[in-house]
Amino acid sequence: MTKCYCLLNGKNLFKPDMHNQIIKVSLVPVIGFLKNEFMKKTQSSRRKFLSDVSLAFGGTVVLSSFGRCETKTSPAFAGPSKQKKLGVALVGLGGYSGGQLAPALQETKYCYLAGIVTGTPAKEKLWAEKYNIPQKNIYNYQNFDSITDNKDIDIVYVVLPVGMHKEFTIRAANAGKHVICEKPMAVNAAECREMIETCKKANRLLSIGYRLHFEPFNMEAMRIGQEKRYGKIITINAENGFTMGNNNNSWRLNKALAGGGGLMDMGVYAIQAARYTTGEEPAYVTAREEKLRPDIFKEVDETIYFDLDFDSGTKAKCLSSYNKNVSRLRAEAEKGWLEISPAFYYGGQVGNTSDGPMNFDNNFFEQVAQMDDFAICVQQNKPSKVSGEEGLKDMRVVDAIYRSIASGKREKIV
Ligand code: NAD
Repeated sequence: MTKCYCLLNGKNLFKPDMHNQIIKVSLVPVIGFLKNEFMKKTQSSRRKFLSDVSLAFGGTVVLSSFGRCETKTSPAFAGPSKQKKLGVALVGLGGYSGGQLAPALQETKYCYLAGIVTGTPAKEKLWAEKYNIPQKNIYNYQNFDSITDNKDIDIVYVVLPVGMHKEFTIRAANAGKHVICEKPMAVNAAECREMIETCKKANRLLSIGYRLHFEPFNMEAMRIGQEKRYGKIITINAENGFTMGNNNNSWRLNKALAGGGGLMDMGVYAIQAARYTTGEEPAYVTAREEKLRPDIFKEVDETIYFDLDFDSGTKAKCLSSYNKNVSRLRAEAEKGWLEISPAFYYGGQVGNTSDGPMNFDNNFFEQVAQMDDFAICVQQNKPSKVSGEEGLKDMRVVDAIYRSIASGKREKIV
């Protein structure tokens, strides 16, 4: 089940600027050439290589296309590489930490896996041996706050069930650590506001684990949409879901721990995709729920269909599901279209446009780029492009979707 889930996730947002032009005209061919030279490598090495290439061209690839943290002074960016790697502590050692984040932290250039926080004593030894983590950097949920005294840890990455995100983000910020919190940011927008406020007061940076802001195909959708390459976008289809097994007692089915069902877990990707492809914020939503397996989804939503209305006139037809296998983003504009399907997995993206296929590597290790970008943000004291505010925007939409299901009417997103 975990494995199945791990294949199904994703999202993103970026503003066109001069650096992006540089990527388009000069770096894609360079990466293509270097990639061919590298074909003999293993898949894992290849993912690492591409991340390395991105970072080697730091001033142009990762730093310009991946965020606001780009150097404005020189394309030969030489900032954080001269400084120490920042230490990251993962909180919650489940499927995503073990399957994606810990491996990614073996390949990051600007941060590394320095510590762990777990409620399962048996995992302490396993992780310590596998990742060479000293005992002094291992915490449990009770003594976690004493991490404040640990100079090895700069960033705490919260990878717990959603209902625990707020508590651990706040505790981490109050312990003086910068925070990455997994998606969805919290169970509702009110919690997000509290988390943002606490991090501000503590003068700590907050970022959300929106890895698709660092994934080439989704970044291309942002670029095409936001630059209006095909004119104004008329409609968007954004759908994300997987079929949950029958014998699943996961926290994902528990309302208190998950906050909701498919919408919270998978739907945020669809909301993100609609927002980052248009570069606009939706104003209204109309939603309806479908429940075909009420025996499984007793507490949380199974499938939700929701339509987002943008003030510009663009409409997004979206779907979130724990009962349908789908991962698709399509945008129809005045003079052309784009489609990525699958769109939100860890790699494997296939993208097409009305001008032909998108030619990017679909084995890019986006979590490496995501975490390195945040480490650079911390080094340079600049907000992440996937900040807490970005997570809040999605949760405002989620709240309005649940209101619309309850009222049976179109609801304003507030
Ligand atoms: P998981 O069930 O595999 O792991 C959850 C971890 O939390 C486990 O280590 C578990 O021991 C721990 N935990 C602590 N208290 C718990 C409790 N009361 N009940 C259950 N577990 C508890 O989940 P996961 O798939 O690793 O998801 C963790 C977070 O990461 C979620 O917020 C999820 O949305 C997010 N996630 C993000 C992506 C992505 O692509 N960005 C992918 C998967 C998961």
